[in-house]
Amino acid sequence: MARVYNFSAGPAVLPEEVLKEAAEEMMDYRGCGMSVMEMSHRSKMYDDIITTAEADLRKLLSVPDNYKVLFLQGGASLQFAAVPMNLMKNKKAGYIVTGQWAKKARAEASIYGDAVELASSADKTFSYIPEVDDLPITDDMDYVYICENNTIYGTKYQNLPNTKGKDLVSDVSSCFLSEPMDVTKYGVVYGGVQKNIGPAGVVINIIREDLIREDCLEGTPTMMKWKTQADNGSMYNTPPCYGIYICGKVFKWILDMGGLEVMKERNVKKAKLLYDFLDNSRLFRGTVVKKDRSLMNVPFVTGNDELDARFVAEAKEAGLENLKGHRSVGGMRASIYNAMPLAGVEKLVAFMEDFESKNS
Ligand SMILES: *Cc1c(COP(=O)(O)O)cnc(C)c1O
Repeated sequence: MARVYNFSAGPAVLPEEVLKEAAEEMMDYRGCGMSVMEMSHRSKMYDDIITTAEADLRKLLSVPDNYKVLFLQGGASLQFAAVPMNLMKNKKAGYIVTGQWAKKARAEASIYGDAVELASSADKTFSYIPEVDDLPITDDMDYVYICENNTIYGTKYQNLPNTKGKDLVSDVSSCFLSEPMDVTKYGVVYGGVQKNIGPAGVVINIIREDLIREDCLEGTPTMMKWKTQADNGSMYNTPPCYGIYICGKVFKWILDMGGLEVMKERNVKKAKLLYDFLDNSRLFRGTVVKKDRSLMNVPFVTGNDELDARFVAEAKEAGLENLKGHRSVGGMRASIYNAMPLAGVEKLVAFMEDFESKNS
């Protein structure tokens, strides 16, 4: 068995401890004679799994009692529609456009109402986070929407926008559980789990209770009403059982490591190593405004497409996989989520140093 260092943006690296434990439990989950994939979601066994997962997530984020935690399907992208369907009473909301995911979310919301662009960083290929202290938010807006960490471009909000009293909705897919987060500052936080938490397909929503209501937009499917899912403990229908089980293991892994403060420390250390190298390199450079840099996704280029392609190919040979940048931006991108060990980033930087000395 040979594991590589996997810098994929998602689906992405998971902790080896979690994978091993899941493998050990595959044939016979804790003496019940079947795998978690094969058991009824209504069984006592499974009830323990989902209840413990929720309790551990609540512990990690100190989720207040007046917020519901939902484990849903359809990935983050289905929530692009669910957000307006559940929240757009006035059929108007404000969107800050900081990349492809925010753009897609806004386009989806436009199907249901007026999704006003409050600010955008499209003018400089999303390489920064716009000023968000005094946005043109109007009284009739139902919410303000952000994508907090921009997976493709490698930017992150260092400060949340001034929403002028409106509820903040945040897509945290690629920074979920990478550092502590004050849930009370949000109306809704949601994220696809395949970046930092588990297998693709599961999306976790944390929603303030008063935003969960019966009167969704006309025509909202039963399955997409948050109320349906909240009233049924995320089990209105069969949930993505196995995915939630793996998420639960990752929550335990983070708790065992010491929680989100420790995650942040580890992530800062890894990112600093890479950014410091980029800032001093003769060959490589980061593509993002320094103050807005993400701890999770680090895009960089040499400035020469041919050299970029060779770097990606040679890195793969050396066991450093999935370093190719997103097809919309080119260059390279190293995603260094929670489960990427420091040793992986050290090996990447050493490889970059070597490549630099041979090619500049
Ligand atoms: C990956 C990603 C998505 C899309 O997730 P899916 O689960 O594939 O729908 C949305 N938002 C952000 C920030 C992402 O990184």
